Amino acid sequence: MRISYSAFDTYQNCPLKYKFQQIDLIRTPKSKEAVFGTTLHSVMKFIHTPGILSPTLDQAMEHFSNSWNPAVFENPDEERAAFSQGVKIIQDYYNRNNPADFNIANLESRFQIEIGESDDKHIISGIIDRIDRTEEGWEIIDYKTTKKMPTQERVENDIQLSVYLQAFLSQYPKEIENLDKIKVSLYFLKHGVKLSATRTKEQLKKSEELFLETIKLIEEQKFEPQVSPLCDWCGYQNICPMWKHKFKETRKIDTEEINNAIDEYVNLKSAISLTKDRLGKLQEIIVNYMAQEGVERVFGESGIVGQSLRRTYKYDAKKLKEILEPLDKWEEILKVDGIALKNILGVLPLDARHEIEKAKIVDKETKSLVVKKK
Ligand code: SF4
Repeated sequence: MRISYSAFDTYQNCPLKYKFQQIDLIRTPKSKEAVFGTTLHSVMKFIHTPGILSPTLDQAMEHFSNSWNPAVFENPDEERAAFSQGVKIIQDYYNRNNPADFNIANLESRFQIEIGESDDKHIISGIIDRIDRTEEGWEIIDYKTTKKMPTQERVENDIQLSVYLQAFLSQYPKEIENLDKIKVSLYFLKHGVKLSATRTKEQLKKSEELFLETIKLIEEQKFEPQVSPLCDWCGYQNICPMWKHKFKETRKIDTEEINNAIDEYVNLKSAISLTKDRLGKLQEIIVNYMAQEGVERVFGESGIVGQSLRRTYKYDAKKLKEILEPLDKWEEILKVDGIALKNILGVLPLDARHEIEKAKIVDKETKSLVVKKK
């Protein structure tokens, strides 16, 4: 199959959004954030387009102003705030960088690379924002206009940068021997911070594997919705099963009975959790009182509250194994503790986490109601 990096990224964030966008081909208007990002990318291209003299800050501002599209904003205040933010980003960029200092090799270069084995080949396409020649070697840069910055660890494993590096290597194959001299960077324009890393051949292979796994999921038509903060910027909310009920006009059945049932359910659920909290507090007061009085039961107008002792046991795993293994019963009592596994996942290396994720199989599937109170 043919897939662009941005479509792959969409699938990673929400498979259902990918389906709406890439398979059903449902078009949505570009969000103001996307338009803002495109404008700043165009300014960055303008600033770094090689010429006799690099553009001055004033010229960059003029380019920004000319590329500005006020129509995407909901009101003049919002537009003013976004414009000021753009101005600040460009000023900051000039404060931190002198465009004349960079040796630009390519800007907004389009690529298409093949991945996979001969009987299962796929093409990835995309655009690399910028490639610089540096003193040590090369630097591949992607600009970001997101508010949130990732950790350095994420940049070390960022799949986009690995794909871009592979695309670069398809043009400069000899550079595979100089991977330690090729920096891959994400430049966060809103923060004025660039996070960089390098890649090893193994990391490149791993990212290709991840890409192929994702392609397999797409081919198997796995398109589950993935609710996340990114839903706030998704143009498919009114057709997405996770959101469309919010839009009254999309409801087929909209009765008082069901609306009351939803509200009552939410209220009862929150009353249960308040009751649980209160029960915990009351228990603490009563247990302290029992200890002070030296009693095991207390008597009130409404009833009697008594303490009972409950013991939980744990076994010495080593000793247990010594006893049960010769009897061929050890494996029978071993069960992977999902909660314990989840607790240690965070400290495992990314490779191990990935392998564990692959080892996951659905045991059983049940639906339950989850409440989010307004
Ligand atoms: S609204 Fe959220 S869950 Fe629904 S398609 Fe968009 S991103 Fe996915």
